Amino acid sequence: MIIVIIYYMIKIIKGRYKNLSMRVTDNGDLLIKAPKHLSDTKIQEFITSKQSWINKQKQKIETINKFKSKYDFKNNVYLFNQAYNLQQDKKEFYIKAFQSKIIPLVEQLSKECNLSYTKLSITNSKRIWGSLEQKKKMKLNWKIVILPIELATYIIIHELCHGRHFDHSKRFWALVEGYLPNYKQLKLKLKDFSFLLTTNVL
Ligand SMILES: [Zn+2]
Repeated sequence: MIIVIIYYMIKIIKGRYKNLSMRVTDNGDLLIKAPKHLSDTKIQEFITSKQSWINKQKQKIETINKFKSKYDFKNNVYLFNQAYNLQQDKKEFYIKAFQSKIIPLVEQLSKECNLSYTKLSITNSKRIWGSLEQKKKMKLNWKIVILPIELATYIIIHELCHGRHFDHSKRFWALVEGYLPNYKQLKLKLKDFSFLLTTNVL
């Protein structure tokens, strides 16, 4: 007797694809795109050969989803990782929080670290938390207000340090470490929150 346990959905789309491609979706299903004439046996072989990769991806997504499930963005707003049940305009709340908490924090850290910037603006990026561009113009993602304060601090100091080193060289990280000896931990912890960048919290 053969017992097959399918613990995830496999969706196969055949079409004008040159190659077989595969990805694990946010709800943990497997999505496969295959060239029109490729046989199901070949596709099955492909899935079998990629089993360990699939498991790893699924694990990653489960961890993210578990972490994500601690938040209720529908009913709450978050300031420095603290939930508030506010019914007012969420966008307004976050913009005000950015203005009243983040802007002064940037000014304070800039002074304390003796690292300057010229202009601060808000970004809505789905990829990055912040950047320091030419002429030390700083951009920070408005969702930074949702993060624990130590991670917001890490992002700000990271960007301020780019004013001295415009790269991620050893000298750059040494400068960061001078201000934040535990920066490696913070950098790792920030990864747990990267789902925020692509999550609608409004
Ligand atoms: Zn950087």
